[in-house]
Amino acid sequence: MLHVDLDLVRKYNVPGPRYTSYPPATLFSENVNFGSLREKIRENAASDRDLSLYFHLPFCQTLCWYCGCNTVITTDQSVSDKYIDYLAKEMSLLQRDLNPNRKVAQLHFGGGTPTFLNAKELRRVGALIHERFNFADDIEAGVEIDPRRLTNDQVVALREIGFNRASIGVQDNNPIVQKAVHRIQPFAQTKMAIDWLRNAGFSSINIDLIYGLPHQTPESFEKTLDEVLCLKPNRFAVFSYAHVPWIKPAQRILEDRILPTPETKLAILKLTIERLTSEGYVYIGMDHFAREDDELAIAQREKTLQRNFQGYSTRGNTDIFAFGMSSISQVDDIYWQNQKELSGYYDAIDAGELPLVKGYILTPEDKLRRTTIMRLMCDLSLDFSAMSKMLGIDFKEHFCAELESMDELEADGLIVKTAEGLIVTDLGRLLIRNIAMRFDAYMPKQTERRFSKTI
Ligand code: SF4
Repeated sequence: MLHVDLDLVRKYNVPGPRYTSYPPATLFSENVNFGSLREKIRENAASDRDLSLYFHLPFCQTLCWYCGCNTVITTDQSVSDKYIDYLAKEMSLLQRDLNPNRKVAQLHFGGGTPTFLNAKELRRVGALIHERFNFADDIEAGVEIDPRRLTNDQVVALREIGFNRASIGVQDNNPIVQKAVHRIQPFAQTKMAIDWLRNAGFSSINIDLIYGLPHQTPESFEKTLDEVLCLKPNRFAVFSYAHVPWIKPAQRILEDRILPTPETKLAILKLTIERLTSEGYVYIGMDHFAREDDELAIAQREKTLQRNFQGYSTRGNTDIFAFGMSSISQVDDIYWQNQKELSGYYDAIDAGELPLVKGYILTPEDKLRRTTIMRLMCDLSLDFSAMSKMLGIDFKEHFCAELESMDELEADGLIVKTAEGLIVTDLGRLLIRNIAMRFDAYMPKQTERRFSKTI
């Protein structure tokens, strides 16, 4: 079992990025040179690297008040067909240049609520993707599931189009918490969703929980943990509620409810980590837990784990092409984000344009730092000579100032430094963002309000 030292957690609980990209998406700019960006997208098309495809399906029937996602709230089911038409057009715009032999190694449907689409609509999206892309035999295909809107027909459709992993939004089972956040989801609904998914042949189930929601206490959250542990998911993602009302104004509603104090929130975090690790889940880092025999845990042991916009992944060396409003793509040394509003997204595609709104072209220095941060977050260690070889630099010399700045982290027991490298301790896993931030060249320039706290 992993023991959590709350004094140190308090000390390091400062705002910081989650590093699903480096630099973080807050640095993507509307002033990027879109000509160069498009040129680089075209250049990448000739590559034979595997593909990772992400589809953002933004519709939800109701808004959960804690939500931080890019959503469109509607009960009008007819919006789906139009959206799928535009996904098809967007795929065609990109795909006309893509090397047709490239294999899709990873597929992800996120949202919003992907299962806002009914079974017929899901099959239609699946067919449009299959017509255009070749899937690898061992594809990792994951879909985010909201049990409140799920039918067995949808599960069967998702399996037919190739999905084999599901991530189930639970957050908290306590009816009082659920009422306060405007998301009523009886436990029986969650259980039924998981039964359907397993019966259909989904090989991996992840459960998402959130701590820091109104009315939560360690005791109430432990009950949720007891219940969801009975469902034996392969993985857990346990997120700290990110209160960012300056970005998501609806979150202000929660300020009238009783949000847990920072102390209560930390107590829930400690309880969760200690409980899940004592139940045989490995703490991968950054809110993620996986069973010891899960491929995430194995990849971490074998140092082949990767991190991208979907979180931790076992599929490395892929180019990520993302479709749909607000989605973010990553190939080579560029990132780009699609239009964040539905109207802007449709207008760009109607004009025959990729719906780009923001982007970022990495400098050579950014690339060194990106690799360093990603290896640190995935491997929980850095081997200086291996990093020197990988990056073509003298790692210790190049990052001399950063490494020196880590003495305090070492004194506090987050890392162990040796002449050969550094190792993240068990405590450091919990504060991995704080360690990664030492390699972030942009950290001092960013305002505190742009990120949620690390815990
Ligand atoms: S279902 Fe998910 S995406 Fe939709 S509002 Fe709720 S939390 Fe946000």
